[in-house]
Amino acid sequence: MPIFVETGPMFSGKSGAVVEVVKRRLIGGQIAGKDFVVFSHQSDNRYGEGIIASHNHERVVAIPRTTSLGIMSFLLNLPENMPDLHPGLIKPELKNVRSLIVDEGQFFDGKLGRVLTAIDTLWRLMGKNLEITVAGLNLDFRGEPFPTMADVLSRAEKVNVHVAVCHVCGENNATMTQRLVDGQPAKWSDPVKVVGADELYTARCKQHHEVFGKPILTG
Ligand code: ADP
Ligand code: MG
Repeated sequence: MPIFVETGPMFSGKSGAVVEVVKRRLIGGQIAGKDFVVFSHQSDNRYGEGIIASHNHERVVAIPRTTSLGIMSFLLNLPENMPDLHPGLIKPELKNVRSLIVDEGQFFDGKLGRVLTAIDTLWRLMGKNLEITVAGLNLDFRGEPFPTMADVLSRAEKVNVHVAVCHVCGENNATMTQRLVDGQPAKWSDPVKVVGADELYTARCKQHHEVFGKPILTG
């Protein structure tokens, strides 16, 4: 039914929110057999393949996928030529799934929002509610939107925008992810996708966010 999004810069508590959702789902599973599935992106190997970890060192085992369709094919028996989908394609052992969680949504290709909407529709046609939670960065290190998350955010029923503590002024107002290369702000022309943690990234407020060569009017 609903798509929830946990977004904000690095260190803002997105994965922590995912860990909380998973903890609640584990309790739900023990009480009423309600199933859930958690996906991560294969390229996020910071903590080992298929491991989602918060910076508070809590860990969740997830299914690593490289594409949005990979999420779909985990849940459905996809036919070769992809005709219109119908609930009969849902793998029988996964019909009890009530919650689907995706971390690092920004790493997925642009089909993620459409794939999640289709999965949501199939569950509704089956007469069952699916709760979808996506965690991901809204902005890259330059402060530009990640297109996949821009699309997912537009489809969401509820969005939590988290903030972190700015590593320069100490205020709890950091909305930006600061990339540092040898302690210096990265360049505007640097590649957007570079996986890393504290050695490469910190959180900063807009006032202290720095990108070498960033134009005021972008694009
Ligand atoms: P995200 O997935 O958004 O990167 P996490 O949930 O993994 O965030 O990490 C959030 C945790 O990181 C906080 O609860 C806090 O313990 C720790 N932390 C480290 N640096 C910061 C910071 N600058 N601002 C806020 N929390 C931080
Ligand atoms: Mg995270």
